Amino acid sequence: MRQPSITIIGAGFGGVGTAIELKRAGYTDITVLEKAGGVGGVWRENTYPNAACDVPSSLYSWSYAPNPDWPHRYSHQDEILGYIERTAREYGVSDLVRTGVEVASATYDEQGGSWHLLTTDGEAIDTDVLITAVGQLSRPSIPDLPGLGSFTGPAFHSAEWDHSVDLRGKRVAVLGTGASAIQFVPAIAPDVAHLTVFQRSAPWIAPKINIEYSPVRRKLRRRQRLTQAFGRGLTWQVTDRFQGSFTEGGPLRLAGELFGLGKPPVRGGADRSKQRGQVQNP
Ligand SMILES: Cc1cc2nc3c(=O)[nH]c(=O)nc-3n(C[C@H](O)[C@H](O)[C@H](O)COP(=O)(O)OP(=O)(O)OC[C@H]3O[C@@H](n4cnc5c(N)ncnc54)[C@H](O)[C@@H]3O)c2cc1C
Repeated sequence: MRQPSITIIGAGFGGVGTAIELKRAGYTDITVLEKAGGVGGVWRENTYPNAACDVPSSLYSWSYAPNPDWPHRYSHQDEILGYIERTAREYGVSDLVRTGVEVASATYDEQGGSWHLLTTDGEAIDTDVLITAVGQLSRPSIPDLPGLGSFTGPAFHSAEWDHSVDLRGKRVAVLGTGASAIQFVPAIAPDVAHLTVFQRSAPWIAPKINIEYSPVRRKLRRRQRLTQAFGRGLTWQVTDRFQGSFTEGGPLRLAGELFGLGKPPVRGGADRSKQRGQVQNP
C-alpha cells in the first residue's frame, strides 16, 4: 500500500512529538514545515530573563525520552530548547524538518482527496494528510495602544526580548502579569531604576519551589533508569493529586473553606482577600 504523504506545520513540542509518534507507527513520508530557523517553537523564541517552565521538567518532557540530566526541577529555556533539539535529532525528526518555510494557506481538494498548501514564498506543496501544530503563542500580540508609535524609547514584547537593551538604571513599564511577567519581573526588578507593572486582571500564583539537582543525583538517574522513572511517577502523583485537591470539591479546598482559611493560592481557588490586600486593581 502506498504510504500517505503527511505534512506537519510547526516544529515545537507538538510538531516534533507528532513526527516522532508517526515514525514509530511506521509512517515514512513525513515533512515538518517550520517558519523559523529551527525546532523548539516557543522555547526557541522566548529568551526573556528567567524564562523557564512552570511544570516540573520530569513531566514537561516526552515520557519515552526521559532526561536524567535536567539540572533543575523547573528547567530554563535554553535547557528545554536543548532537550527538544536533542530528542528531535535522536528520533530522526531533525532531517524531516524544512525550516524557513511559512505556510500561508491550506485548501482541501475534495475530488483529489489531498491538501494544497501555499507558502509565503509562493511554493505549492501537495499532501495527503495535513496536521497543524502551530501552537497558540508563537505570534506575539501587541495591543494597539495610543501613543505606542510615537514612544521613542525601546519597546518590545517579552516573546521577542531585545537583549541589546540594557535595562540597568532605566525606568521600565511592563504591561501584563501573566506567566511570562511572573518570571521576568522579579529578574529585572533589582537592576532597573523604577519598575511599573500594569495589570488588568490578577493571576493566581503559588510559590515555585525550584531546586538544582546535584551531579550525584543526575549520575544516579543516568545509571539507574528505575530511580528516574520512580521520581517521575512520584512527581506526577504528587502534583496531580495536590493540584486536583484544590479544585472545586477537592479535599484541601473543602478543608480550607471549612476552617475559614480562605481559598488556596492556586488558580481557581486563590485567597482573594490576601491578594486584594497586596495588589490594587484599578
Ligand atoms: C514562556 C512560555 C512558557 C511556557 N511554560 C509552559 C509550562 O511550563 N508548561 C506547559 O504545559 N506549557 C507551557 N507553555 C505553553 C507552550 O506553548 C506549550 O507547552 C508548548 O510548548 C506548545 O508547543 P506547540 O508545538 O503546540 O506550539 P509552539 O511551541 O508555539 O510551536 C509552534 C511552531 O509552529 C510554527 N508555525 C506557526 N505558524 C506557522 C506557519 N504558518 N508555517 C510554518 N510554521 C508555523 C512556529 O514558528 C512554532 O515553531 C509555555 C509557553 C511559553 C511561551
